[in-house]
Amino acid sequence: MFTRKLTLRNLNSYALMMFGALLLSTSVAHAQDTQAKLPNVMILATGGTIAGTGADSTTTVGYTSATVGVEKLIAAVPELKKIANVKGEQVFQIASESMTNDHWLKLAKRVNTLLAQPDVDGIVITHGTDTIEETAYFLDLTVKSRKPVVIVGAMRPSTAISADGPINLYNAVLLAGSKDAIGKGVLVSLNDQINAAREVTKTNTSTTDTFKSTELGMLGYIQGNKAYFYRQSTRKNTVDTEFDISKLDVLPQVDIIYGYANMTRAALDAQVASGAKGIIQAGVGDGSIAAQMKTPLVEARKKGVIIVRASRVGQGIVARNGEANDDELDFVVSDTLNAQKARILLMLALTKTNNTKEIQRMFYTY
Ligand code: ASP
Repeated sequence: MFTRKLTLRNLNSYALMMFGALLLSTSVAHAQDTQAKLPNVMILATGGTIAGTGADSTTTVGYTSATVGVEKLIAAVPELKKIANVKGEQVFQIASESMTNDHWLKLAKRVNTLLAQPDVDGIVITHGTDTIEETAYFLDLTVKSRKPVVIVGAMRPSTAISADGPINLYNAVLLAGSKDAIGKGVLVSLNDQINAAREVTKTNTSTTDTFKSTELGMLGYIQGNKAYFYRQSTRKNTVDTEFDISKLDVLPQVDIIYGYANMTRAALDAQVASGAKGIIQAGVGDGSIAAQMKTPLVEARKKGVIIVRASRVGQGIVARNGEANDDELDFVVSDTLNAQKARILLMLALTKTNNTKEIQRMFYTY
């Protein structure tokens, strides 16, 4: 009886042990499974205020951009582990006012290489806010993947009270790992809002709600750990563009002249003399050309320089053959693109053609 009892007891504790081991292995497997099911999001860091530091916690201006490395940015948001398998890479470390065409080519090539890997589901790029809209639009036209690419920044340095960087980074990773963000083009996400690269612009020098798509509207929100999309741009992007930067080391020189009362030809002449292949005129009103600017622009065009009429106003379509006879002058209009984005599209257009009709088509396509 005793022997029998003992055997049973042994049997029971053996069964218990086995059950425990099974539970443990199931929960380990479950944890591994959950981890494996999380999206793999690569964070490419480029600098900016999101990586900036100030003298103390109330310093929100006069701080130094681009001082904190990517590993520290990730470590500051341990919650990221719950929503994605993240890896960081420092691509460069600059304030975004110093962004150049070379930086863009390097970044776009790296993004394309990473997105071609099956183990990368999405990319987040941390970036200074001053030129975030330009980098976003450059990538929107040159990334060859439908996987999410989200560009994020912050208006307050990492050392500030209520720094917006950590929550913006968290939301950006969430968005980059979201299936809903696939095929939406390059996205800019700050302040719980999702904007399309083509339409977003910085509208305020210092407030955290600075990024707006003004009249055309943002794409959606991030709320309660979920991205909500409500609209999408009708303009082509990423895999649907005709631009290929994979073999390019340099982009054609395109410069911007700004319209104002009493405008002179000095800036235009200097830009043409320094080798500009294209000029964007951020004209007053509907891209109007001042009487004294017509001759210099026509002269530049005769030298082969492509002239694009944009507007300094910030909203609306620049009407072809409206304020100037573009057909006769052989000029191009920027449609709704602001001057800094028109510059990007013209640079890429010039890598394909010098034909103004073709370039105009591109301005109505992207
Ligand atoms: N000057 C900074 C930059 O663009 C501003 C910012 O990131 O908010 O790098």
